[in-house]
Parts: sequence; C-alpha cells; structure tokens
Amino acid sequence: SRETGKSEVMFFSKELERKIKQKIEVEGELKKAIENNPEEFYLEYQPIVDLKTLKIEKLEALIRWNSSKFGKVYPDFFIPIAEETGMIKDITDIVIDKAVSQLQEWKSKGIETKISVNISPSEFKDKNFVDRIKTKIPEEFRNYFALEITENVLFEHTQSSIDKLKQLTDLGIEILLDDFGTGYSSLTYLKKFPITTLKIDRAFVKDIPDDKENRGIVMTIIKLARLLVVRSLAEGIETKEQLIFLRKSGCQYGQGYYFSKPKNASEIEKVLKKGF
Ligand code: C2E
Ligand code: CA
Ligand code: CA
Ligand code: CA
Repeated sequence: SRETGKSEVMFFSKELERKIKQKIEVEGELKKAIENNPEEFYLEYQPIVDLKTLKIEKLEALIRWNSSKFGKVYPDFFIPIAEETGMIKDITDIVIDKAVSQLQEWKSKGIETKISVNISPSEFKDKNFVDRIKTKIPEEFRNYFALEITENVLFEHTQSSIDKLKQLTDLGIEILLDDFGTGYSSLTYLKKFPITTLKIDRAFVKDIPDDKENRGIVMTIIKLARLLVVRSLAEGIETKEQLIFLRKSGCQYGQGYYFSKPKNASEIEKVLKKGF
C-alpha cells in the first residue's frame, strides 16, 4: 500500500542518514588522528609460512586504529574512507614508517625478517609514489620489504604502473599480487608485471577441499603461478585439511588463523624467536 511504501522510504532515508552521519564522523576522527595522534595507529603482523618447512618467510603488516572514539577498529572500517578522502597517502606513510622502525628494532635485537605492506590501488596514481618509497625505506631494508597490490592496479593504469613496479623491484622491493582471482585480471598483462607472488584470495581457500569449485579455482591459480614462474601463497588457512590440500596441490606459501592470527609486535617477536 501507499503507507507501507512511505514508511519504507522513511526507513531507508533514516538508515542512509545514519550511514552518512557515521561516515562524516569517522572522516573527522580519522583526520584528527592523522594530524594530532598518529600513535593511535599501529601494526599487527601475521606470519606468512613456507608450507613445506613451516618456517616463517615474512610477516604481513595489517593496520589497526586504537581510536579514542571508536576503540580498536579494523581497516575495513576506515581504509575505504581514507581512500575516498585522500587521507590514504598519510596512512601509507604512517604504515611504512612503522614497518621500517620495526625492522630496525628487530635488526638491533638480531631478529631478521621481512615485512609485507598493503598498498591501496589509488596510491599508484601518485606520480611521486616511487620517490616517496625511496625516501622512506633506507637502502639496507629494501630487500626486506614487500608491497601487496591488487589486480585493479594492473588494470587501471597499465603502462605507468608497470614502470613504477619495475622501479620498485629495481630497488629490491618485492611485489605481491593480493586477492588474486577476485578482480579483473588480464593474463596478457599479468606476465608483464614484475610480481613475485600470487596471493590466492581467502574466498577461494574457504571450504576446500570440500567445495569442488573452490578446489578447482585454487588448483588453477597454483598452476598459473607456476606457469608465470611466480610463487603461490594461500591466505585464510584455518584448518589442517586446507593445509594438507594446498600442500598436495603444490602451493608454496600460506597464512591464516591455523598458523597465527595477526598479533602486535611484541607478541609476534616471541613467535619469531621461538616458532609457533
Ligand atoms: P587483506 O590484505 O586481504 O588481508 C587479509 C585479511 O584477512 C586481514 O584482515 C587478516 O586479518 C584476515 N585474515 C588473515 N587470516 C585469516 C583467516 O585465517 N581467517 C579469516 N577469516 N581472516 C583472516 P584485516 O586485518 O581486517 O584487513 C582487511 C583488509 O584491509 C586487508 O585485506 C587489506 O586490504 C586492508 N588493509 C590492512 N592493512 C592495511 C594497510 O596498512 N594499508 C592499506 N591500504 N590497506 C590495509
Ligand atoms: Ca594483503
Ligand atoms: Ca588478501
Ligand atoms: Ca582481501
């Protein structure tokens, strides 16, 4: 009836209003944190494991925000807003600085590890991206640094992206292709990009080996990686069954709650020293 129609409209507009209000609030808080309290941001680290030896190959850095307003919040809550508003550049700077000081601290303690950092696709539009990276990451740590980018980077800005990625790898920085299989990937371009690793998205690792479709997709990506002479890395491994299947299929690396949840620096330091 007309009346129900009207109340639905009211419901949607209320819901929309709430969402817009929250977005504006998050945006404001984010701006304040970046400008006045960057220490509210910190990194958690999740081990990336060699599936044959079960040794830790590197750590993925994942940002968290200890907001005075919202408490501990995860990237899905604020990264999209940071991307929309251009604040992502500041976030990336904060993340890279933190990763570098962490490598420095661990080095001084005799702990050697690599760190992989997530980079938003929009960062690749920045002409100065490579220069920023060069200034931020001292030479001695570049071989211990990896960047995770998604397929969209490849698709959207092709030639200039290839150039940037080449410059980064020339510096010794490794490039991982994140969330592989979820975006638009052109196989033609894929082989032109100087990536070292395909990260198989968690959505496909879920429910293997039971799910026949996912099983096929995962096996195909592993084969594709071999064909392109890059490594395969499965994310979101939560069970022994998944691990066994991935190993059998020739997947080289993995990460997920089965090995370890993302942990703060001091907790992960213990893992680096003693193993799981
Ligand atoms: P991602 O790069 O695909 O990271 C994997 C996400 O899966 C992380 O969520 C991680 O905590 C979670 N995860 C890892 N293992 C498992 C598992 O076994 N099971 C399940 N259910 N989840 C698992 P998180 O930390 O909330 O990060 C979400 C996304 O936010 C990331 O997805 C990445 O796209 C983005 N992100 C994280 N840190 C940064 C950053 O510093 N900069 C940028 N630009 N984006 C970031
Ligand atoms: Ca990632
Ligand atoms: Ca991923
Ligand atoms: Ca993801």
